[in-house]
Amino acid sequence: MRPGQTLGILGGGQLGRLIAQAAKGLGWRTAALDSDRSCPALQVVDVPIVGAVDDAASAIELARVSDVVTLEWELIPAPVLEEVSKRKPLYPQPVVLAVIQDRLTQKEFLRKNGFPQTEYGAAAGAEDLPCYPVIVKRRRHGYDGKGQARFSSAEDAAKGADIFAAPCVWEKVVPFAKEVSVVLARARDGEIAVYPLAENLHRNGVLHATRAPAQVDAAAARRAEELARGLARTLGHVGVMAVEMFLLADGTLLVNEIAPRVHNSGHYTLGACATSQFEQHARAVGGLPLGRVAQAAPALMVNLLGDLWAGGEPDWTLLRSIPGATLHLYGKASARAGRKMGHYVVVGDAAEAEWDRADERLGALRRL
Ligand code: AMP
Repeated sequence: MRPGQTLGILGGGQLGRLIAQAAKGLGWRTAALDSDRSCPALQVVDVPIVGAVDDAASAIELARVSDVVTLEWELIPAPVLEEVSKRKPLYPQPVVLAVIQDRLTQKEFLRKNGFPQTEYGAAAGAEDLPCYPVIVKRRRHGYDGKGQARFSSAEDAAKGADIFAAPCVWEKVVPFAKEVSVVLARARDGEIAVYPLAENLHRNGVLHATRAPAQVDAAAARRAEELARGLARTLGHVGVMAVEMFLLADGTLLVNEIAPRVHNSGHYTLGACATSQFEQHARAVGGLPLGRVAQAAPALMVNLLGDLWAGGEPDWTLLRSIPGATLHLYGKASARAGRKMGHYVVVGDAAEAEWDRADERLGALRRL
């Protein structure tokens, strides 16, 4: 892409907003498609298109005004992706998304290509569950812990049978020591740039905090990187992608899931690394050389969920007292519980101590 050309984004959430802001920094125009005119990305793009991301006509309109199209959400229906890719270069390509959109297809892909993961299988009902405890996930349209259930016994599974209203997979529960993720970018010409390993803390299936570099031994970090590089190459992915992994006490790494897009655990790169994951994604899909990923200093990212707004707008003045802290808000009008409203990043020497103080900080931000 050349300056003045337009990058189109399927989806209008915070990831789309941050990609659009980075793309503007490269001198490009931006367009995005979302059904909600007041969503995070449509507030900042040059060409906002209001329409559903699963509506082919709206996606075709996005393609019409764009030179290259990308996405910020991987669950866009295949027929819509096909319509877009017939008209304009679309990255990542529909074949990559076809592997990832269905958890069972993704797991079969990992198995066929020899990537390590926990034991799994298809499950249409509680009778298909081979062991307890077990985690059941909807094959499609589950994210942030939604469409997932953990069962400790057959009686337990019988009570939670509503998850089986749609096809599911079961997974053996992994007794992980840590959760880590590799965020990398792969360019159209196959060049790969990998960010420092991120260490993640989830709460109720939702990312709570990330620190980078992860506090794991160097050999584990190297193996995680190699795994993720291999996955990106095997998939033929173009753009940023994240590979979430479980690290076991004995050093074993298991792939949990692949996100073929910029990722919440890579938010720290905006502020901490020479090139943010958002600019890197724009560069990769737009056909520019990748930027440097070097990290200037240790970093911490903490998600700000809607719950924090229960007593009104949080008291942001507190963040000013944390050296190296930056607040990012996504411009969402209503703060529902569990909704990702923003995050803060701490870059520098304070990051390590702030990892242990995240709950205290969130408590102090909250208005009573
Ligand atoms: P997912 O949406 O698949 O990334 O799952 C959300 C979170 O649930 C993960 O980040 C883990 O904290 C937890 N989780 C998911 N699958 C497993 C598993 N097989 N074993 C243990 N924890 C899991």
